[in-house]
Amino acid sequence: MTTKYLFFTGGVVSSVGKGVTAAATGLLLKERGFKVAVQKLDPYINVDPGTMSPYQHGEVYVLDDGAETDLDLGHYERFIDIRLSRVSNFTTGQVYAEVIAKERRGDYLGGTIQVIPHITNEIKRRVGLAAKETGAEIVILEIGGTVGDIESQPFLEALRQLRNEVGRENCLFIHVTWLPTIGATGEMKTKPTQHSVAALRSIGISPNFIIARADDPIDESLCEKIALFCDVEKKAVIPMETAGVLYEVPLMLEKRGVGDLMLEKLGLTPKQKPNMKPWEKLVAEVRKPKPTVKIALVGKYVELQDAYMSVREAVKHAALANGVEADIAWVHSADLEKDKGWDVVQSADGVIVPGGFGSRGIEGKILAARYAREKKVPYLGLCLGMQVMCVEFARNVLDMEDANSSEFDRATDHPVIDLMLDQRSITDMGGTMRLGLYPCQLQKDTKAAAAYGVSQVDERHRHRFEFNNAYREQFEKKGMVFSGLSPDGKLVEIAELADHPYMVGSQFHPEFLSRPMTPHPLFMGLVKAAKERAKK
Ligand code: GLN
Repeated sequence: MTTKYLFFTGGVVSSVGKGVTAAATGLLLKERGFKVAVQKLDPYINVDPGTMSPYQHGEVYVLDDGAETDLDLGHYERFIDIRLSRVSNFTTGQVYAEVIAKERRGDYLGGTIQVIPHITNEIKRRVGLAAKETGAEIVILEIGGTVGDIESQPFLEALRQLRNEVGRENCLFIHVTWLPTIGATGEMKTKPTQHSVAALRSIGISPNFIIARADDPIDESLCEKIALFCDVEKKAVIPMETAGVLYEVPLMLEKRGVGDLMLEKLGLTPKQKPNMKPWEKLVAEVRKPKPTVKIALVGKYVELQDAYMSVREAVKHAALANGVEADIAWVHSADLEKDKGWDVVQSADGVIVPGGFGSRGIEGKILAARYAREKKVPYLGLCLGMQVMCVEFARNVLDMEDANSSEFDRATDHPVIDLMLDQRSITDMGGTMRLGLYPCQLQKDTKAAAAYGVSQVDERHRHRFEFNNAYREQFEKKGMVFSGLSPDGKLVEIAELADHPYMVGSQFHPEFLSRPMTPHPLFMGLVKAAKERAKK
């Protein structure tokens, strides 16, 4: 079968849920029996988001092969239930780096290197890789940013060229826009959408679909107006008001007939009837009133919840499977250092300390771990959260007063968390951590083994530091159990406390493998323990 392409562009403003819409569309097509691949094209100049601040970019989503990617890839994996690879996300930075390396090698034989064709060719080559590597029949491409941005122009131009190369009948452009409402009159406006479609048409692209987003119900007459002014069929203008439940988006698109209509326009017939029942059940479950369990998330980027997107989703998945509603209380770890925010932590039934880098707020996280240990409050430490749990244990149980991670105190006498040997000589910051999937063997009769119910798992990593083996025995003597180890026994992957309802920390990031229908065992364990505590 010829590969078909769906190009998702954004109009008017960013952050209107283009990624979720693309992901949900992927699900509808997969449900119709097609093999789909997804790619995110990010027009910024960074090579990848790995070196960007979570404040700028939100969470860095890590894939099996260790690629550090955009958080939209999390949406794709969770909605479509697929495992993506490095080809699924590329940036202007990667495109230019490749072209410039070729130029330095002399590959262009003296030619003048230009945006068209050299940059656009490299973009098209990378687009092609998705289908080549996965054997996908339909490739969904999301272009980051908004039409009109200077950075995104080469990408749009490349896709315009691609459309002619693979045939117009094999491509659809789907433009996701925003309909603002004027407060004084309560009137919803289509003009910005018209302008952004005009911008798109000025570069030679006419959208086949317009997905119009708004917070309030969208009147059919507005869809007619958009169809008329933007030269799109009325049935291809899809109104999408903000969903109360994230996982309702595929159902909303399905109800509008988007899955069938897209296939029809691509000249395809569904191979099977989509089964949306599990999603309907899931959404109904979310809607049901349930007892709440409060989980305090003690982090340093809590002002921007996108920084912990996968953690938040993983908690929600586990809560749903436990028949409870998760109330996530966002606590700034630096506040805890100033004696603020403790009321929130104390009112919670569980504590999560997520991943992080740098020393700001670290003492607050250590205090939160101490509180969880002493008060026997369920605790889940994710990467840095596991390291913090070990530092706290060393300081307050093993009486090593200045114990620390050498990330935060190079001169400490007790570096219980230390730089991995192969990290010592590294000077480049980008893409040089221990990244991606590594096996972890679970030790018998531990909480981790009970949670997983198997003896070996593969989990995604993103860190430079690890537990310092020189301290293993001392920790074990006082009740720390190293319940997950690398197969050679050399790396501590999971630590837990013996005498505690649930104090578990993983050196990896379990949140990246949680799915709405299959929540992650370690999150299940936390929520189950928190639910027990809430009952008492
Ligand atoms: N900063 C720690 C390290 O590099 C933890 C990283 C993380 O939490 N992802 O090891």
